[in-house]
Amino acid sequence: MPIEPKRLKTDASDRALRRAEALMPGGVSSPVRAFKAVGGRPLFIASGSGSAIRDIDGNVFLDYVMSWGPLILGHAHPQVVEAVAAALKDGSSFGAPTVREVELAERIAAAMPAIEQVRFVNSGTEATMSAVRLARAATGRPGIIKFEGCYHGHVDALLVRAGSGAMTLGAPSSPGVPDDTVRHTHLVPFNDLAAVRKACEASADQMAAIIVEPVVGNMGCVPPAEGFLQGLREVADRFGLLLIFDEVMTGFRVARGGAAERYGVRPDLVTLGKVIGGGLPVGAYGGRRDLMQQVSPVGPVYQAGTLSGNPLAMAAGIATLDVLAGPGAYAALERASARLEAGLADAVAQAGAAARVQRVGSMLSLFFSAGPVTDYASALRCDTAAFGRFHQGMLARGVYLPPSQFEAWFVSLAHTQEDIDRTVEAARDTLAAGA
Ligand SMILES: *Cc1c(COP(=O)(O)O)cnc(C)c1O
Repeated sequence: MPIEPKRLKTDASDRALRRAEALMPGGVSSPVRAFKAVGGRPLFIASGSGSAIRDIDGNVFLDYVMSWGPLILGHAHPQVVEAVAAALKDGSSFGAPTVREVELAERIAAAMPAIEQVRFVNSGTEATMSAVRLARAATGRPGIIKFEGCYHGHVDALLVRAGSGAMTLGAPSSPGVPDDTVRHTHLVPFNDLAAVRKACEASADQMAAIIVEPVVGNMGCVPPAEGFLQGLREVADRFGLLLIFDEVMTGFRVARGGAAERYGVRPDLVTLGKVIGGGLPVGAYGGRRDLMQQVSPVGPVYQAGTLSGNPLAMAAGIATLDVLAGPGAYAALERASARLEAGLADAVAQAGAAARVQRVGSMLSLFFSAGPVTDYASALRCDTAAFGRFHQGMLARGVYLPPSQFEAWFVSLAHTQEDIDRTVEAARDTLAAGA
């Protein structure tokens, strides 16, 4: 049965946006939320449950943003709600060690052999910033190799050709980042091992680390080419660089052990966030013991945080990882995601649309591009106007997608087969209507 597009009632969201815009840039706390890239206005969300969200006008949507990745169990999962409520009753923060930190650290280390020790922070941005500081301190070199289109949070030194919001909003790099700050950031195309080798050969004695999203989520879902991550490991070893996997998005997402497990490559340092916080603000960096032992207070590399290891965030993370450790969790995510991929690909073929689905595990993107998206240059060839029309069509049919061509959709354990099929139906109708 075709899903008819609805004209959404947005009075309450529009009113809230006017209040918000008076006091907050764009009315939002993070840029892509403003819907600028898809030609719409942001909806203010009142609540979420499972795979669905409800806005303040009462519209209900199937959600594939999932808070941009953390909600791998869906919204307001009962075990997470219960764990956070229990932690809150005990007091929300102490600025002193709690056992919950140890419990989350144990779960992370058990899933990720590359993480022998870990430090909790409050966001993915803090995690990558701190990992880069540590890598520079440990090697005594300043240079960082970064890939075009990879996003590592809004760390000054990494905010060049940064994918995600920066790409969506047409500002590949940000004013306010002095040239000096990015002087040691060496940009290379994703999936281009020869370019990495060349950058190292030119100035290996100046290079501290390679930082990479092992599966890119922040220019849309772009998988690593066969052998690319192994190649990075070899180059890093040959030239004495550290290999940092930014698994803020992919950790506990593309496999329990993240991309390191999925592709069988062991990084020196790993950054985490999103899923390990179960929807509360969290980040972490970890890796080889000898490196982590250089972090303060054991070593000289200073890094601190008033709310780091926050008990509520730890509780949400522990509950999330415990549900994920249950039998068949990743198989279920894979099944639902594969069904969505196949359904979307079929809808695209039927409509004769110039579009393609790219997926790794429960991350996927529908690119409005005739050819595969493998790097920043090919991502830029996407028809973002077509994506904008598709986004609006899906929203009118009750499906809430990331408001940018250059973001991944996230499937959660709460997405049922019926949810997936309804999404595919909506995509079929949207594409048929000429999106
Ligand atoms: C989301 C993300 C970040 C930044 O995390 P925040 O918590 O938003 O600061 C860093 N790296 C990657 C790969 C991400 O997806």
